[in-house]
Amino acid sequence: MKAWENNIRKVVPYVPGEQPKMEQVIKLNTNENPYPPSLKVKNAQMDLNRLRLYPDPEAKDLVHAIASYHGVEDSQVFVGVGSDDVLAMSFLTFFNSDKPLLFPDITYSFYDVWADLFRIPYETPALDDEFHIVAADYYKANGGVIFPNPNAPTGQLVELSFIEDILEHNQDVIVIVDEAYIDFGGQTALPLLEKYENLLVVRTFSKSRCLAGLRIGYAIGNPSLIKALNDVKYSFNSYTMNYPTIVMGTACMEDEEYFQETVHKVMATREWFGKELTRLGFTFEQSYANFIFAKHKSVPAKEIFEAAKKEHIFVRYFNKPRINDYLRISIGTDDEMKAFVTFLEKYLQ
Ligand SMILES: *Cc1c(COP(=O)(O)O)cnc(C)c1O
Repeated sequence: MKAWENNIRKVVPYVPGEQPKMEQVIKLNTNENPYPPSLKVKNAQMDLNRLRLYPDPEAKDLVHAIASYHGVEDSQVFVGVGSDDVLAMSFLTFFNSDKPLLFPDITYSFYDVWADLFRIPYETPALDDEFHIVAADYYKANGGVIFPNPNAPTGQLVELSFIEDILEHNQDVIVIVDEAYIDFGGQTALPLLEKYENLLVVRTFSKSRCLAGLRIGYAIGNPSLIKALNDVKYSFNSYTMNYPTIVMGTACMEDEEYFQETVHKVMATREWFGKELTRLGFTFEQSYANFIFAKHKSVPAKEIFEAAKKEHIFVRYFNKPRINDYLRISIGTDDEMKAFVTFLEKYLQ
C-alpha cells in the first residue's frame, strides 16, 4: 500500500436503481413518475443568451414560487439539485454532534452513505415486524433524527401526531422529515413548523412533479435553519442550480391542475394494482407512495425480479437482511401495470 493511500477518503457509494439503456422497457424500479412533466414546463420561456451569465445563486424565482405555493416566506425555503443535494447539505449543516444521528434500519439507503461520508456517528433503530417506526426508539439522547414519511422502501405513513411526539422528545436537535412521497396521499408535516423551529421538511420534484431529470429538491424550515444551509452551500459552490432548471421548475409550480391530475392518476393505479397483487398471492401494507413494497406468499422476490428483467420489466430488489423477500414496484401507467400483471399471471402459474 502506498503512503498516500492512507489519505484517500474511502466510502461505499449509494447505488441507485438501474437505468436500462434499451428501448421498450417497463421501468418500475426507481419511482419516477410515468407521466410527462406539465406542458407549462415544456413551454417555459427561456432566453438562452442568459446562459452566458452565471445563474442566480439564490434561485430567487424558484424559491419564491415554492414559498408562495406552500404559504411560507421566501426565507423559509432552501433549494438544491434534487433532494439528495438538499439532504446531503442538511447532514453536513445540522448533524455535528458526538451523539448518534438516528434513523430507521430500513429506510432510504442514502442516509447511511452521507453519515459515513461526513463521519457522522449514527444508530439505526429497527422497524418493528410490520415495518412500523417505533417512536420510543427516538426518545434517547441523539445528535439528530431523520426519517422519510411515507418511509422508503416500505411506503408506510405515520400520522402527524406521531411526528409531533418525536418532535416533543427531540427539541434540542434538528429533526428532518423527508417528504419525497408525501403528495401521494399523506399529510404533510409543514403545519408543525409553526410550533417547532427545529423541524426541517424536505421535498422533491422527482416523484410527484414528474421531473426527476431536472434535479430539484427543497427544504422548508425556520429562516435560521435555511440561512445555515445556504452558508454551507455557498461554501461549496454558489451556482449549483442552472438557469434552465430555475425557469422550468418555476413554471412547474404554476400548474396545480396538472399536478393534482397526475398524482390522482398514480394513486388510482396504485389501488387497482394493489388488488391485482393480492389476487396473485402477494401481501403488503397500504402504500402512501408511488410504489408498493410487496412479498409473495411462496415465490422468492429475487426470482420474480430476475424473471421480470428478462421480459424487460424492471422492478427493485434489495438484497438486504429483513427485506430480501420483498419487491419494490413503482406505479407506472395503467398499461405498464397491466403488462406487469400479465407477466406475473404467467410466471406464477
Ligand atoms: C427519491 C428520494 C429522494 C431523492 O430524490 P431526488 O431525486 O434527489 O430529489 C430522497 N429521499 C427519498 C426517501 C427518496 O425516495
